[in-house]
Amino acid sequence: MSTLRFFALKESLSRLPITISENKKRSELFGKHVFGKEAMRQVLSHDAFQAVEAAINTGAKIDRLMADSIAAGMKQWALELGATHYTHWFQPLTGATAEKHDAFFEQTPEGNAIEKFEGAKLVQQEPDASSFPHGGIRNTFEARGYTAWDPTSPAFILDTTLCIPTVFVSYTGEALDNKTPLLRALTAIDHNATEVAKYFNKSVSKVTATLGWEQEYFLIDSALAVSRPDIMQTGRALLGHAPAKGQQLDDHYFGSIPARALNFMKDLEQQCMFLGIPVKTRHNEVAPNQFELAPIFEEANLAVDHNSLIMDLMDRIAERHNLKVLFHEKPFAGVNGSGKHNNWSLATDTGVNLLSPGTTPMKNLQFLTFFVNTIKAVQDNEELIRASVASASNDHRLGAHEAPPAIMSVFIGKQLTAVLDELEKVTDGKLSPQEKTDLKLNVVGKIPEILLDNTDRNRTSPFAFTGNKFEFRAVGSTTNCAKPMVVLNTVVAKQLKDFKSEVDKLVDKKKMKKDDAIFNILREYIKASKKIRFEGDGYSEAWEQEALKRKLSNHSSTPEALAIQLDKRSVSVFEEMAVMNSVELKARYEIELEEYIKRIQIESRVLGNIAKNHIIPTAIRYQNLLIKNVEGLKNIFANDYENLAQEQIALIIQISKYIGDINRDIHAMVESRKSANKLNIKERAIDYKKNVLPFFDTIRYASDKLELLVEDKLWPLAKNRELLNLN
Ligand code: ADP
Ligand code: MG
Repeated sequence: MSTLRFFALKESLSRLPITISENKKRSELFGKHVFGKEAMRQVLSHDAFQAVEAAINTGAKIDRLMADSIAAGMKQWALELGATHYTHWFQPLTGATAEKHDAFFEQTPEGNAIEKFEGAKLVQQEPDASSFPHGGIRNTFEARGYTAWDPTSPAFILDTTLCIPTVFVSYTGEALDNKTPLLRALTAIDHNATEVAKYFNKSVSKVTATLGWEQEYFLIDSALAVSRPDIMQTGRALLGHAPAKGQQLDDHYFGSIPARALNFMKDLEQQCMFLGIPVKTRHNEVAPNQFELAPIFEEANLAVDHNSLIMDLMDRIAERHNLKVLFHEKPFAGVNGSGKHNNWSLATDTGVNLLSPGTTPMKNLQFLTFFVNTIKAVQDNEELIRASVASASNDHRLGAHEAPPAIMSVFIGKQLTAVLDELEKVTDGKLSPQEKTDLKLNVVGKIPEILLDNTDRNRTSPFAFTGNKFEFRAVGSTTNCAKPMVVLNTVVAKQLKDFKSEVDKLVDKKKMKKDDAIFNILREYIKASKKIRFEGDGYSEAWEQEALKRKLSNHSSTPEALAIQLDKRSVSVFEEMAVMNSVELKARYEIELEEYIKRIQIESRVLGNIAKNHIIPTAIRYQNLLIKNVEGLKNIFANDYENLAQEQIALIIQISKYIGDINRDIHAMVESRKSANKLNIKERAIDYKKNVLPFFDTIRYASDKLELLVEDKLWPLAKNRELLNLN
């Protein structure tokens, strides 16, 4: 009898919810463990406070003396809240977060002890970080990298550790993390969007990108998870028959949240309050055991940090509730996978959402400017945007008819399409007063009204305008949001820069009025960016055909999708916007390919082991039972036994066939890996996809058939229907 599975089932069925009570209003908890403005005002001198503010707002440098003073205040605050350690908290290119704790505690020469934290320790550290991926940026003999404080994301206390958000760079200055290029991209968008926003309001002096992510995830019982080596080691079920009752009845979506999950959420949300993460929405998603969490949107750098932090928190808190969180994009075949929608917009320091239509024609022209430029940027860089969400796990989701396809397109809705169609007809050159009035009254002036009743929602689009922001829906649930945010903000920044120079040229050389020039350039952009606009069903076969005709890319796998990052034009966009240089881009390309290969390699090994050590022996055990039965029948009914044992014999043969299939495929898969491993990294990645990955399906097919044949009580692995049933 398969003890682990039944032990796990028993354990999971006897679980009671770990009840979380909420005694305080959430608003009272909000930000209590964050070294934000309120905390800083209390412990910092006026000068120190101003120095941090200036660093946040204008990137001003903080000198050594000031750093000491800030560190002293931060320490005082942290000690009062019970912190014993501090860490530079960063996001290496593994996609996760990294921390190395140091105690405040230090010994004095006299042998006593004090709590110490100096400015130098706050501002910069040198972790021994030679084992983080660097894609050849650092040779091992100079394997040093350093972390440096990012004052734009406030320090926070997690458990008893003061966490200081930092960037991670090499001694030669190249970014070794996800945050550094993000900060550079946010500077680029700030600068270029501000320049354009000034056309409409001279007092704009800063534009921030805003991000509101929505995180989907699965929760399963931790004991059941342990009985599944595939889930423990790869985060997904490499095999297991789909449950007979999956999501067909849509009875999970927005249904009442199971008690254990709800308590987990309450616990998590309370911690989020302390950490200043403004979580707002929680609900059941489409698949059984699938849920979603979304905060209120924030400045993009902070939102990215908060997403990384929350993923880490979820892991920890789930443990307390005897649950395991699965962030994988496709943990279970046969039910929906998980994504992480990235809602994105731009906001001015004058309080205006640049992608929100306004109340006057001028404000709407501003809206249209940013709206059309974004569409153009997506069109011109669709492959880079696709690459920003490429990963082995997201390959399972994109294009699987439950998430957007791997083809990038922009959805804007019927009404805005009509507006762009009108703008396309604008006269070439100067506009007559009559035409302008007409445009203002009938086109530009009408936008707020049409958006009010704009109920157009297209769930199949990877990049959809949703009234006052764009929603990038192709992001995978495991992806660090920094990656898509770097690319999106960089390409829009570049686009706005080009736009400004084209408009200025018309104003200077052709003596056009500013809005005439803007209308003229927008007209050309609208014409030029029709290819990317698609309003239909993104899941359909017809769209694939149509996209092919439009020459849009359709990279269904990561190795193909990543290649664009080394393209000359991509490199020049990143260099021009000072976001990444060619060394950094090449390093990332290699790290991502390497990760892709390793993920598949690990999955392949795990699958091979499970099939050999669990599936085949179980099948043989059951087959032996059948053989005994046939022998018995033969003993008793010598003459007629073939008739009586007919079904059993057929089963015995069937089982042998599946065992044979699995064995053969495992062997062939190992050989494929061996030959792939001899290739260079680029070819290796492609080879893993072409010649290793297909065995996953065939091995799974045979194994899942055996799962259906073999007596339930012999089956050693928790079945998917058991995993997807949270009591
Ligand atoms: P819905 O689209 O479901 O009607 P909302 O429009 O309120 O709901 O927001 C959906 C998501 O978009 C939320 O996660 C929210 O934080 C985010 N969001 C809303 N406005 C912005 C914005 N200006 N910038 C970035 N994200 C935003
Ligand atoms: Mg959603």
